[in-house]
Amino acid sequence: MRSTEDTYRHKGLRKKLVDLIKSKGITDERVLHAIERIPRHFFLDSAFDEVAYEDKAFPIAEKQTISQPYTVAYQTQLLEVKNFDKVLEIGTGSAYQACVLADMGAQVYTIERQKKLFEANKNFAFLKKYPNIKFFYGDGYEGLPTFAPFDKVLITAAAPEIPKKLVEQLKVGGMMVIPVGTGEIQVMKRFIKLPDGSLQEETYDRFSFVPMLTGKKE
Ligand code: SAH
Repeated sequence: MRSTEDTYRHKGLRKKLVDLIKSKGITDERVLHAIERIPRHFFLDSAFDEVAYEDKAFPIAEKQTISQPYTVAYQTQLLEVKNFDKVLEIGTGSAYQACVLADMGAQVYTIERQKKLFEANKNFAFLKKYPNIKFFYGDGYEGLPTFAPFDKVLITAAAPEIPKKLVEQLKVGGMMVIPVGTGEIQVMKRFIKLPDGSLQEETYDRFSFVPMLTGKKE
């Protein structure tokens, strides 16, 4: 069962979380504002109500996780989200990251490979607040050719390598933020697509994500 009530206590905890994330180096005010606005405890089972505003990842269904708030903020800041940016997210999971992007005014297209997680978001009333998110059940490695090109691509699972089709679906001048690696720990990378189709690569900090897997799961 999800919590549906956002109390002053929750709002206070959220403000503290924002201060913590700021102290860890997040400076993009629009990212911080989105995190302050979105009731993270709505995305978790009510058993996690007390801890939802700790800067930690938590389990959701199907052995997946809602990313740590700092990680969400970090990836979103690297993505330099602008109003009306068309953003493709791989790994919807709890939909928290999608809401952060949508709250910042992006047009969000998000793909989840696990049917149960995809279905759970259909009954999640809070998401009605964000008609600018479109949800898809599918394999993120394929992207969404029908809706391409995208200004930004955000991958929220650990990718063994850069998914080629997603690079094709990125606009020139567009950015992809992706944790790359096959082990427990991955490196956050940002790629910018240059006019000749090649990628400018930047390397950031280390993180730990669940793996990006191929194919769909029923
Ligand atoms: N963005 C999420 C983080 C979820 S964890 C959030 O805010 O909660 C990563 C998610 O990626 C998991 O739900 C996992 O099922 C999904 N995933 C892994 N490989 C995928 C793929 N190839 N296509 C789409 N989703 C994938």
